Amino acid sequence: MKNKVVERVLCRQCILPASFPGITFNDDGICNHCQRYKGEKATIAKQEKYEKKFIKLIESQKNRGDYDVIVAYSGGKDSTYTIDVFVNRYKLKVLTVTFDNTFISPTALSNITKVCGNLGVDNILVKPNPKMLRKIFKTAATRELYSAKTLERASTICTSCISFVKGITLRTALEKKIPFVGYGWSPGQAPVQASVMKTNPAFMKESQQATLQPLQKIAGDALLPFFVTDEQFAREDIFPWNIHPLAFLEYDEKKIVERIQTYGWEKPNDTDPNSSNCTLNAFANQVHRKRYDFHPYVWEIANMVRTGVLTRNEGIEKIEPPENVTMVSYSQKELELE
Ligand SMILES: [Zn+2]
Repeated sequence: MKNKVVERVLCRQCILPASFPGITFNDDGICNHCQRYKGEKATIAKQEKYEKKFIKLIESQKNRGDYDVIVAYSGGKDSTYTIDVFVNRYKLKVLTVTFDNTFISPTALSNITKVCGNLGVDNILVKPNPKMLRKIFKTAATRELYSAKTLERASTICTSCISFVKGITLRTALEKKIPFVGYGWSPGQAPVQASVMKTNPAFMKESQQATLQPLQKIAGDALLPFFVTDEQFAREDIFPWNIHPLAFLEYDEKKIVERIQTYGWEKPNDTDPNSSNCTLNAFANQVHRKRYDFHPYVWEIANMVRTGVLTRNEGIEKIEPPENVTMVSYSQKELELE
């Protein structure tokens, strides 16, 4: 009997597929990204260097205002652990800000309440007009909004949502003159060399424009309150540092979950394997996979496999199975796409 299953070609070291833009393989089936990787020792040395840099910065930036750091808090495991790290490892005054995209898992919302309560931090919940958000997500599900490069790292729906998160977080940091902006990017999402970085207004403005322009065509000026204004971009003197602590600390998913459970965090059962807060993610992934023939998380997961944070099989489990049908149809129904 002929085997009709076409085996997908994946890098034999990480998990990047042959359909990933710009990928090449050597004779051993190892991708160009793995061939460039310098190994774990180099990563650990860099991690130590960046944590030291951050600790030094804390000395000069701490206790300047009401808060030392603002954290974009989704209620997911990585952002929860990031708050824990800022509070307990670095002893900073933390403000958390949550963007309600109308698809936050009820478990994630309850996690936010419990964790902020148990860690003793303030939270601002930002809930933009749901009609506007759903119009944006619906449009993102039906056509492409962004550049090809953007879509190597995340789906169109996810990118739309994240641009709100970044806008709200930076705007709040500038309004409250908070010196650090903290994100719980996994070590696969943000490289260690970007983990302690002074934000540059010109660069941030350009990066905001890349997503704001297409979004504004869909939603008009109603979304402007959630983005940084030109006047604010002119205030270079108060631009914060971006800190991604999970890139320079040990990252062990199991240990992280055990630790945050002590603050009342629970794993939601209505999200896909790549999210612990968003019920729209499974659908966003499916749209991307159909459109581009690779999983939108594959870059992030491949980085984690390459650096030993996940095993190759754990990585494959996160990107190869088809998206959960119940989760996908929930989003389709909510967005009136059936
Ligand atoms: Zn590879």
